[in-house]
Amino acid sequence: MTRNSPDPQPLLEMENVSVDFPVKGPYPFSKKCWIQAVTDVSLEVSEGETFGIVGESGCGKTTLANAMIGMVRPTAGTVRFQGVDLYALNPKAFKEARREMQMIFQDPFSSLNPRFSVYEIIREPLYIRGQASETVMKGKVLELLKLVGLDEEDMYRYPSDFSGGQRQRIGIARSIILNPRFLVCDEPVSALDVSVHAQILNLLMDIQKSRHLTYVFVSHNLAVVKNICQNMVVMYLGMIMESGSSDAIFANPLHPYTKALLSAVLDIDVTKPRDRILLKGDTPSPIDPPAGCRFWQRCPSAMKGCRTVPAKLVEVEPDHQVACHLISGFSAQQVADSLHEPVSPKSGG
Ligand code: SF4
Repeated sequence: MTRNSPDPQPLLEMENVSVDFPVKGPYPFSKKCWIQAVTDVSLEVSEGETFGIVGESGCGKTTLANAMIGMVRPTAGTVRFQGVDLYALNPKAFKEARREMQMIFQDPFSSLNPRFSVYEIIREPLYIRGQASETVMKGKVLELLKLVGLDEEDMYRYPSDFSGGQRQRIGIARSIILNPRFLVCDEPVSALDVSVHAQILNLLMDIQKSRHLTYVFVSHNLAVVKNICQNMVVMYLGMIMESGSSDAIFANPLHPYTKALLSAVLDIDVTKPRDRILLKGDTPSPIDPPAGCRFWQRCPSAMKGCRTVPAKLVEVEPDHQVACHLISGFSAQQVADSLHEPVSPKSGG
């Protein structure tokens, strides 16, 4: 559970959610394999907050975000939006609920149709809904263009006429035209020039305040997450390694993976000594993830038992949970004389 404010009912709840994707086996006629993109994730997002999902590329953060808004059906578990099981709704009710949940995509270059004018792109969700006249749609698009810092003349121009930052503004306008309550921002600035990051983030924060939105912010940039998110989860190979309030995690990171990620954040004071933790090896394949702690092959503190005993999330302080045997220890049954022998991260799985 990862909430700061004591809201009796979170806006969005995930309970033991897993998402697996089928892939072809390596050889002709070999059995189908499954990519375990997300495994057994539970979390809560409160109304009005910005909730961060961080981790390396391929850790399952975008799949998790997609499962939140009905874009990927979980293989197991429950997603509740406003207390209702999203995936148990009939198609009509599901469509209605989806209108409350929108997404800002990572790549503003491929997420906008180059053949559509800005007007057609922004009005599209309203147009598909088919309940607004051309005049109403025009008025709404104009209002949103102003809100995101573009001009009326931009309405009939095409995506190729705009810079990356301006294209992302168009994407933001499109995502809020149906007045959603819940917005997933999937790495909204990672494809943009560093010089426009702050402008887009400030715009998102202003829109959140004025429209009372709830954000899920997917990112691998911990410095950004620290500044804008109240609560967060750190993911590795489809599982949550650490979760809680951002203040608690940044003040006292406990999981070796979180510590490694934080050690990579650049400080504005370049003269300050950096204690960089370099992780060895690559992330293992999600088709055949390690049986015990998913991080053990790269963990500088791995113990022998970490290979076989999965680490469960345990609460270490209010609003702070960690999945690591260094914190939770092993049960009496799991303890053996050899259990605490250090394991070389290079020794493989
Ligand atoms: Fe490292 Fe073991 Fe903790 Fe996993 S459970 S992070 S391998 S110490």
